[in-house]
Amino acid sequence: MSTKDYLEKDYYAVLGVPKTATAEEIKKAYRKLARQYHPDANQGSTETEAKFKEVSEAYDILSDTKRRKEYDEARTLFGSGLGGYAGTGGASRSGSGGFPFDLGDLFGGTHQGGTGGGGIGDIFGGIFNRGGGTTTRAGGATTRARRGQDIESEVTLSFGEAVEGTTVSLRLTSSSACTACAGTGAKAGTTPRVCPTCEGTGAASRNLGNFAFSEPCRDCKGRGLLVDNPCEVCEGSGRGKSTRTIQARIPAGVGDGQRIKIKAKGAPGENGGPAGDLYVQIHVKPHPVFGRTGENLTITVPVTFTEAALGAEIKVPILKGLPVTLRIPEGTPNGRTFRVRGRGVARKDGTKGDLLVTVEVLVPQHLEDKARGALEDFREATAGGDPRAELIELARSE
Ligand SMILES: [Zn+2]
Ligand SMILES: [Zn+2]
Repeated sequence: MSTKDYLEKDYYAVLGVPKTATAEEIKKAYRKLARQYHPDANQGSTETEAKFKEVSEAYDILSDTKRRKEYDEARTLFGSGLGGYAGTGGASRSGSGGFPFDLGDLFGGTHQGGTGGGGIGDIFGGIFNRGGGTTTRAGGATTRARRGQDIESEVTLSFGEAVEGTTVSLRLTSSSACTACAGTGAKAGTTPRVCPTCEGTGAASRNLGNFAFSEPCRDCKGRGLLVDNPCEVCEGSGRGKSTRTIQARIPAGVGDGQRIKIKAKGAPGENGGPAGDLYVQIHVKPHPVFGRTGENLTITVPVTFTEAALGAEIKVPILKGLPVTLRIPEGTPNGRTFRVRGRGVARKDGTKGDLLVTVEVLVPQHLEDKARGALEDFREATAGGDPRAELIELARSE
């Protein structure tokens, strides 16, 4: 498709979705329309065939995040509602058939200055490079090295697995070359033929005023090949779904809600292209005892009044292994937090965060006679000091 197409065609309108449509909504709209206009369902109707092509073209662009962004940018750049520019000729200096602006200026072709810099050229370059795949010619036909799709997946980990790191099995479904036709899109027993329009290069060049674009060939959509008898499995698209299970290493220290990238574990590339990446959305189940703040684990432990008042050595559980001993000094207030070093969450460098232990002083709920007597003695021994005296004084002075 050409730049002019980009500016003229409202792919959103073609699919009947708003500009803000999600990928899912776009896919749904496309599927519905593709079924409706599919050539198999409308034998010989050139009108529906054209419609089918239009819908496919719109989906090609809008389903590809990168190209959709470029398309949006291109349209924003030139303003919306450009549908009427073709043939308005008068003001045009380019002589290209009615552009209301001078492409030479915009693209730096013949005039200096203009918008300065290759911004617009970059955008269109990006559109037509289809994500930078490399092209090799074999036997006159184009075989485009295609990077594999990025794949989204998710996994739910136990609290401990997230802290320590783990290996998980992930079942992944991705788009790949159709197995029935090996991605050619041609029915078994038939072979695609070299596109006569572009002679197999997949590219066509088009002159717009004093600027020449290289764009994907319209007839073969840049594939360099034409399919006369489409494969029945993939309906000529050459695309299929493949499912595989992979082992993915989840690094230590991941957190709930985090999305991690695992390089080259996405869909395999085609024609020598690199594999896509795998993105894993992490969910972490809460732990009944431990909490987490960043690289530290947290725990609240109960201590008796006497342990807090007199000091004590207490046992504190850790996430993995035997409890550790923590010394509570004499006169420890309720809510004080102690740090047990190296018992937290693993860091990237192999060291670990800390375990933060917060004490909660218990107040006895039931007192045996002896204990009650001892506490009454304690009250007598500490009589005279009112812990609220200062507070009351302060409140009054304000
Ligand atoms: Zn072609
Ligand atoms: Zn197929």
